[in-house]
Amino acid sequence: MNKIVYLDNNATTSVAEEVLESMLPFWRDNYFNPSSMYESAGLSRVAIEHSRSVISEMLGIEFADELIFTSCATESVNTAIFGTIAANPRRRHIVTTSVEHPAVLEVCKLLAGDGVEVSFVGVNERGELNIGEFVHALRSDTLLVAVMHVNNETGVVFPIERLARIVKETEPSILFFCDATQSMTKLPIRVDGNFRDVDMIAFSGHKFHAPKGVGGLYIRRGIRRRPFLIGGHQEFGRRGGTENVGFIVGMAKAVELAAKNHDKDNERINYLRNKLESGIVERVPYVVVNGAGAERIPNTLNIAVHFIEGEGILYQLSDVGICASSGSACTSGSLEPSHVLTSMKIPFTAIHGSVRFSLSRYTTEEEIDFVLEKFPIIVTKLRRLSPYWDQVKNKPRKDVSNISVK
Ligand code: PLP
Repeated sequence: MNKIVYLDNNATTSVAEEVLESMLPFWRDNYFNPSSMYESAGLSRVAIEHSRSVISEMLGIEFADELIFTSCATESVNTAIFGTIAANPRRRHIVTTSVEHPAVLEVCKLLAGDGVEVSFVGVNERGELNIGEFVHALRSDTLLVAVMHVNNETGVVFPIERLARIVKETEPSILFFCDATQSMTKLPIRVDGNFRDVDMIAFSGHKFHAPKGVGGLYIRRGIRRRPFLIGGHQEFGRRGGTENVGFIVGMAKAVELAAKNHDKDNERINYLRNKLESGIVERVPYVVVNGAGAERIPNTLNIAVHFIEGEGILYQLSDVGICASSGSACTSGSLEPSHVLTSMKIPFTAIHGSVRFSLSRYTTEEEIDFVLEKFPIIVTKLRRLSPYWDQVKNKPRKDVSNISVK
């Protein structure tokens, strides 16, 4: 395979070499079922508990049974929401946002069809949560608030500390769940600090250089909740199913690696993202950064390229070995406009021309320079084929500015 420039790290990341190394013994030699009674199986149990303590330390979690391992963020989200609803049948109101990942949105929509009331709080044109609407949505019978930390499409960061505090000051019994899939290991998350009012947190290993197929869920002690996967006694009776020992070990290793160089990595990624962003804006006319002006995670750039289709850009990028995305990983490939960009009231034509680049600590400056070389050429080529661009090009500039380019 030719060398690729991988800038789709919000969809998934490569498995770090050190992570791979840490996992291999759990298939080669130490493959035992952690629930078995013989001595060798004890090593698997120890490995799981060590991994739990590494991740707990990063998140400031005090008790081992507050962190359970799952198969992915989707499972963690489903466990948190369905499990809470099932254990609290009298309270039937959820507050969430219109820009959540489908893992949250689709669960909420399904519950809405089953008689649970759901309030979907909107965002402004920068993708920031409408705080007034959020406060207004909270009720005395609200059971659960579900808000993501970082938006997977735009990288916009929601002020979780502030939102969770508002919730607890409004009604301490309301539970606060946060989908931290895009922020885990990238932004500070401490349940004894900035996330002290957050009751449940979901995350997924494959977003931070662990393999696909392992995730986690923090559940504060004392939260009433039914298990989602019912079976054996694993995970303190909170999640049945034989533990995926190797992947759990790998996820803990990935957390350790991320913690080691966190500040330096973030600074470098931020520099590269900003270089990509300003480079594209300088070289390509009629490009708008989605989420500009809002607080954004350093690794994500979502841009609307007017007068052409995002899918066309992706194919052309792919032809030169550049991997990017035209929306959420799960919705790219469908022609549905992104629900996130739609909620931000980005014009329809701009939504269709939107492309997301997401970087990782393995992204190099050379790769960014390569994208900056290829991207303007691709846009020019596609615009030559675009009837909208033809119209625009033939008009004097001041007329062009009337076209709604937000
Ligand atoms: N939540 C967010 C914000 C995501 O970005 C994703 C994946 O893209 C998920 C949940 C689902 O993660 P997983 O694929 O691990 O189930």
